[in-house]
Parts: sequence; C-alpha cells; structure tokens
Amino acid sequence: MAQDQIKALTGMNDVLPGQSQVWRYLEGQVKAVLDGFGYQEIRMPIVEQTNLFKRSIGEVTDIVEKEMYTFNDRSDRSLTLRPEGTASCVRACDEHQLIANNKRQRLWYMGPMFRYERPQKGRYRQFHQIGVETFGMASADIDAELIIMTHQLWQRLNIREKVTLELNTLGSSEARANFKAALVDYLSERKDQLDEDSQRRLSTNPLRILDSKNAQTQALLNDAPNFQDYIDEESAEHFSHLRALLDAVGVEYVINPRLVRGLDYYGKTVFEWVTNELGAQGTVCAGGRYDGLVEQMGGKATPAVGFAMGIERLILMLEAMDAVPEHVLSYVDVYLVSELEVADKAMVLAAKLREQMPNLRLQMHMGGGKMKKQMKQANESSARFAFILGENEIANGQVSIKDLRDNAEQISLSQDEAANWLTEQLTA
Ligand code: ATP
Ligand code: MG
Repeated sequence: MAQDQIKALTGMNDVLPGQSQVWRYLEGQVKAVLDGFGYQEIRMPIVEQTNLFKRSIGEVTDIVEKEMYTFNDRSDRSLTLRPEGTASCVRACDEHQLIANNKRQRLWYMGPMFRYERPQKGRYRQFHQIGVETFGMASADIDAELIIMTHQLWQRLNIREKVTLELNTLGSSEARANFKAALVDYLSERKDQLDEDSQRRLSTNPLRILDSKNAQTQALLNDAPNFQDYIDEESAEHFSHLRALLDAVGVEYVINPRLVRGLDYYGKTVFEWVTNELGAQGTVCAGGRYDGLVEQMGGKATPAVGFAMGIERLILMLEAMDAVPEHVLSYVDVYLVSELEVADKAMVLAAKLREQMPNLRLQMHMGGGKMKKQMKQANESSARFAFILGENEIANGQVSIKDLRDNAEQISLSQDEAANWLTEQLTA
C-alpha cells in the first residue's frame, strides 16, 4: 500500500522556480541599497539558546509567550529556532567584540525566522526577514539614515506610492513607566470594556493595548492618558531632530501616537512602513531604537537602532502591484539545440561561448530528438535566442539563430562571430 504523501509543514513554504527569481530580484535590490550606504553583512546561526530570546525579547511578549519553536537537543539543552534576528545579532557583536569601546557598526542579515503563529496571507511560521542593526550611534541622524534607506528601496522597487511611514517616539524608560502606570490606572477602571487580549495585557504588557485591533478598545483609548504628555525632554528633542532630517530630505510620514512595537526593548524612535495592499498583514517593515538592549543582555550600554522587513510581504506587494519587471522572470539567454549527430560539436560551442561570455546564461538541450520538439522546449525556456546546430551548420562553421521573441527569420552566423553578435544583442 502506498504510504501517505509527506507534505511541508503548515505555514512553511517552498519557494518554487519562478518565485525564486522574484526573491532574488528583491534581495538584489535590497543589497544594492545596503551597499550604497556602506552596511556590512553578518550571518548568525538559526538556532540559539532559548535564554537568549527570553532575556532580550522579554518574557511577556507574544513571541516568547506563545510563538517560539523551542525544543531540547540530545544533551537536554533548551534551544530555540530564532523568531527574529536582533537578539542573535547583539549576541554575536558582543561575543566578538564588534561593539566594544563604542565601536560603531552598521550591519545587515537575511534569512528565515520561525514563529508559531496562525498562518494566513502574509503571516507564516517560517518567514524571511532582512534585518538591519546599527550600534554605537546615539543621535537621531542614524535613525533618519535607516528610514531614508528604506525609502530609497521603495523607490527602487516602484512601490513607494503604496507604503506609508508611521512614526512615533516611546520616550525614555522612565517616561514609559510613568505613562504605563497612568494608562493602567485608566484602563483598570474600565477593564470590563476591554477585549480579552487587552485584559490580559493590562497586567503583562499594557503598552501593547494601544495597538489593539479591537474597535471598542480603540474607542476607549480616545480618552486615555496621552503618551505625548509623558515624553521626556531628551526624547522629544531626539524626535524633532529626526523629523527635521526627514523633512529636509523630503521623506513624508504620519505621526501615530499609538504605534508601539511588539518587543519590549524599544525606546525613543519607533517606525513602521505600512500598506493597504495586503489586508490585515499591512506592515512590511518595522523598527526602532533599542538603546537599552545590549546592556540588558549583559554587554556594555550601547546605543542601537535597527529595523526588519518581511520578504514574503514585500513579494506579495510586488505581485499585487504588478511591479516585478519582466526581465526578472527570464533565466536563460540562449537555448542551444542540436541534431544528435553533432551533439559533441554543440558541447564544444557551448563551452567556447561560456568562456567568451562569463555572464551568459546558456541552456543546452539534452538527449536530442526531433528539431520541432527541441524548439518547443526552447520557446518554453524563457530564452531570448535559440542557437541551432545541424550537420549543415557544422560543415560551414556556422550556427543558425532564431530570435524567439519577435519570431523573425532565422539567420546564420560564423561560430567565431557568435559571441560578439550575442554581446551586442543582449546589451542593446
Ligand atoms: P505583526 O504585527 O505583523 O505580527 P511583528 O511586530 O510581530 O509584526 P516584527 O517582529 O517587527 O513583526 O518583524 C518585522 C517584520 O517581519 C514585520 O513587519 C513583517 O513584515 C514581518 N513578519 C513578522 N512576522 C511575520 C510572519 N509570521 N510572517 C511573515 N512576515 C512576518
Ligand atoms: Mg507578530
């Protein structure tokens, strides 16, 4: 009896050929922008000690409370598949003295993150982030640089018109504590009017109530204490410096006083790029300042600010907006077909072309067969040109070429001229 087919885990997706090209396009654009600002890549392990995340993200956050993939390894150590990258990045920087003596760092990483969430469009259990973290810089200019960098990326990707920057300041930890106390006082008196999640958060993580999706809770918040009244002077100055820099460069934003981040470690600047294109999962990029985290994790106090963007959500956006350039889906320039009798000559020609044109994307037909069938494969390959070799061509030292896009007449060229001709065509 046939066994049940084994499928991928819920919320963990294969990136198939075709999709992977869009991923590579997006990753390439992001890397180009990061390179343009002088950021360096760091690669961290995907599995870490569970305590790393408990200590950094905070015990009472959604992630640590209910979303982590935690297991014991064969030596009975508690390990966790990373739910985000900041904790690992801070650990690595501290462990390798990258941020010792106030050394500055501008870093980025890319890779899978794991959270046990309810899978839906734009929300998965294995998803991918591109994260950026900076260390050693306390002033608002670096906050501005990060935002300007993402802004430039949206322009490059042609999605600028469909994303909005939301900005807020969370103040100092003291300001947050004062505000938290006032908020808890206010909401405790009205506890029965809160949604269930918010009731729970009242004792665990009251600031998160501010971004509750529940309409009644939001209405209740209209008359709640106002964060702005609690912000300390230094944070207020930091915030207006940031705003002035963004204004100067022409990056538009909306102030959202209810914007708080899911993780405990943020203070001062927080921001999100949001879109209406994706339904409920509308945040494509989120970040902020976390000056307290390095010390909280056992290192020396180090100012830090960073962000992470969700690759799947950006890809959904590119697709929804038809913003994937056509050339991205092509993966072959030349498809080489040949009669079986001259297959060895075809191999030789392919080798020569690859040597002459190191960036050429050439795919060879395998196994011979009728020319008509081979040409059908050529047409399906996304190649711009079919190169055709038969006994005639070999006898004359030529190659026949068919442009698969405009369906023009076939031409013949000397094999020696083929590389020059191709280079001209492909760069035209
Ligand atoms: P959300 O409010 O959507 O749950 P979050 O605050 O948990 O997001 P962060 O931890 O700040 O998200 O992660 C940064 C970005 O990573 C998000 O803005 C989003 O684009 C993406 N992201 C987060 N969780 C997921 C997920 N489960 N699936 C896909 N993308 C995700
Ligand atoms: Mg979340």
